[in-house]
Amino acid sequence: MHSNQKNSIDIPIDFGILLKNFSKEKQYTIPIFIPHVGCKNECVFCNQKKISGQTKIPDKNDIKDTIEKYIEKFKYDRKIQVAFFGGSFTGLNISKQIDYLKSAYGYVKNKKVESIRLSTRPDYISVRTLKLLKKYGVKSIEIGVQSMSNDVLTVSKRGHQRTDVIRAARLIKLFGFDLGFQIMVGLPKSTEKTEIDTIKTLLLLKPKELRVYPVYVIEQSELFDMYKEGEYEPLSLDDAIDRGFYIVNECKNSDVKIIKLGLQSTDEITQNNEKIVGPVCDNYAEYVIAKLLLEEIDLKIKEVLSKNENVNKVNFIVSKDIPISLVVGPKKVNVDYIKKKYNVEFKVKNTENR
Ligand code: SF4
Repeated sequence: MHSNQKNSIDIPIDFGILLKNFSKEKQYTIPIFIPHVGCKNECVFCNQKKISGQTKIPDKNDIKDTIEKYIEKFKYDRKIQVAFFGGSFTGLNISKQIDYLKSAYGYVKNKKVESIRLSTRPDYISVRTLKLLKKYGVKSIEIGVQSMSNDVLTVSKRGHQRTDVIRAARLIKLFGFDLGFQIMVGLPKSTEKTEIDTIKTLLLLKPKELRVYPVYVIEQSELFDMYKEGEYEPLSLDDAIDRGFYIVNECKNSDVKIIKLGLQSTDEITQNNEKIVGPVCDNYAEYVIAKLLLEEIDLKIKEVLSKNENVNKVNFIVSKDIPISLVVGPKKVNVDYIKKKYNVEFKVKNTENR
């Protein structure tokens, strides 16, 4: 640490531990959307066709075409994973599952693709299912948990309970698959407490990966009707960021990889679409991560001020692989927060720019 000018000071700051849950293996994913297929449920928030941004249900030739098309575009020598998203894969009839799996598994066998992942519901996991998935080279299984509160699951019409999640997770681990969970913040009856309880319980099941989505209210879903009737109020963006922050903060002491925070924008899901209500935000992840880093920034500033009363400007020096925009936050939220609280400005430089 040394002074540049009278009131300005350079401070190294390490976010490595805070960001470890976000580090990802560099690999390519070939997404294959199977909208709403295989699911007999009608969760109140679901309008699966819209979320996946397409309505056509692929057949086995579409799957092969998609895989070929993606492989052609990939430039680097990285692992490739085929991912079946969008529906409840193991709810499809067995012959359809085998069709899909065979189409992808051919590429695993000829080493063009490293592995297969899919997502499904916890109550659609059985020993028989897992044996089939193992046979066709599936490596990762993500289950849609959404909440571990039975009240929240019931009012959201999920059609399963928390015990189904625990049973499915244990079986998936027992068979040696990588386990992933998806959870939502802001479901009906869901609170800060039920969400923190959800993540704490799920971490005990030792997942490898986690996705966190704030609830959007989408037209043609039951939740939209509940919203119109005044029975449900979506989270504000600030609250959704706080809820996401509580979740990622709980993950700090675990090895789980947070592979997704917030929904991907599609043509339909945009901040300006009147048919979608709620904390719609293109850079939700950046807001949540910025909040996570803010605690460390705040501590550092406090420490600096306790030793140097006259400082009014701090230059944080961060490792070169950390984007400066993450530290200052979207719209510089972290800079503004610190300025308001301590009347201190901070800037961020990467180590190589010193
Ligand atoms: S289980 Fe998944 S696909 Fe089925 S209704 Fe619920 S959210 Fe939609």
